[in-house]
Amino acid sequence: MVSVSSFLALDQGTTSSRALIFDRFGKVLGSAQKEFEQHFPQPGWVEHDATEIWATQIKVAQDAIHNSGLELNEISAIGIANQRETTVVWDRLSGEPVCPAIVWQDRRTSNRCEDLRNPKFEAMVRSKTGLTLDPYFCATKIEWILDHISGARSRAENGDLLFGTVDSWLLWKLTKGRVHATDTTNASRTLLWNLGEEKWDDELLKTFGIPSCMMPEVRPSSHLFGHSEASVFGMPIPIGGIAGDQQSALFGQGCTQPGLAKNTYGTGCFALMHIGSKPKQSLSRLLTTAACSNQGEKAYAFEGSVFCGGSAVQWLRDGLGIIKCAADVESLAATVDDTAGVYLVPAFTGLGAPHWDAYARGAILGITRGTKQAHIARATLEGIAFQVAEVLESMEKDTGQAIQQLRVDGGASDNNLLMQMQADLLQTPVVRSNMTEATAFGAAFLAGMTSGVWQETSEIDEIYQVDRIFEPQGSPQVISERRERWSEAVGRTLQWEK
Ligand code: ADP
Repeated sequence: MVSVSSFLALDQGTTSSRALIFDRFGKVLGSAQKEFEQHFPQPGWVEHDATEIWATQIKVAQDAIHNSGLELNEISAIGIANQRETTVVWDRLSGEPVCPAIVWQDRRTSNRCEDLRNPKFEAMVRSKTGLTLDPYFCATKIEWILDHISGARSRAENGDLLFGTVDSWLLWKLTKGRVHATDTTNASRTLLWNLGEEKWDDELLKTFGIPSCMMPEVRPSSHLFGHSEASVFGMPIPIGGIAGDQQSALFGQGCTQPGLAKNTYGTGCFALMHIGSKPKQSLSRLLTTAACSNQGEKAYAFEGSVFCGGSAVQWLRDGLGIIKCAADVESLAATVDDTAGVYLVPAFTGLGAPHWDAYARGAILGITRGTKQAHIARATLEGIAFQVAEVLESMEKDTGQAIQQLRVDGGASDNNLLMQMQADLLQTPVVRSNMTEATAFGAAFLAGMTSGVWQETSEIDEIYQVDRIFEPQGSPQVISERRERWSEAVGRTLQWEK
């Protein structure tokens, strides 16, 4: 391919579209970001306008190219990292979405999942897809669109409608409708992708009434998907990498070998651990998902999400008003040595892995007349760290492999106190890198492998630089007692909402 080696990463997130240009040393040469609107038409519903996603994404890409000062022909490839599970259905001819995109957070299909719930079906879904039956994934969202948008089902059956996750939608728009494809990491979040057989699963498509002609082609994450149409940027650019944001971050953090794990501390927390080249099943209700790899290789990961991570800190700011900005939580929490026995379970929107309890609700336990704001702030940070520790412990149990170090990223990973708490609770070093843009960099690296700038996934290690390592402190005995107490606190929050 071309000899230049800068990469345009499109980082299409839940609240904003971002674009970054990386050079071959992982340095950011230019970037731009634009928020877009979140729509909440009914309780539990969350929608995006796919057309706005496209418009903002293209605008920031053009701005990032401009900011970098590079000529177009110096950009050798595009990589896409995207919010996952968000479901877009559009008309093949007009290119118009048939309705707003249904966002991963949307719970409108909860009842449908409840109706389908029985041990046999759930076991089948788990063994085929590595996922759990939940409205979070695409299958029931697509089904909802076909059932509720007038004429959609017959148009889909006629081959007039296409489904895609956001990567697929962007790819289709970039190529002006020439390529309808996705990558394995995104496919593995639909609840329709058979992980073991590596194909869309006919039985699941049938259960959800989804015509197979709607489904995109599935390719490896590092692959030449096509070229952007000349009119988009001024000249065609190869699209060489696609991955769901969390898998892209795992990759961008250099977790390319079994046993390496990362956690992203954003609104929620997403922990992923590389488990090798075979899709194992978790016994602790973790998800099994495809991970990024070099062309022709296979990689899988266990994933556990904590629904409420940094958003618990937002609640301290906006709900309780005890801090002015998120970063203030660290200094407030540091004014006390411990939580004085207070435990805060931030199950504000239910609990994710390993509990998967949509009916759990938040609780603060152990409050006395001596409890101060600082104890609540400290207990909130601990609540985040305890949840992440539970997920990682499950991963260790299910793989029989100890995590040697946890690599971290995301907004709340700036919080040194939280990172130290995490290292202590895990009794494992926590490593924060200088690569603050791991998600976008993962996509850029995938594209760079396709264009031949990098040959081996291990070359990420040459770019990965440690910012700080948090070594575990504290007595393992005390920590294990506190973790038991945490489990008791979690037990009080389960099945609270009737
Ligand atoms: P997302 O990508 O999910 O929007 P970010 O990675 O931008 O999230 O992180 C933002 C989240 O991190 C917010 O929920 C915020 O409350 C939290 N956060 C940001 N800085 C800190 C901090 N210093 N300490 C604790 N939490 C923080």
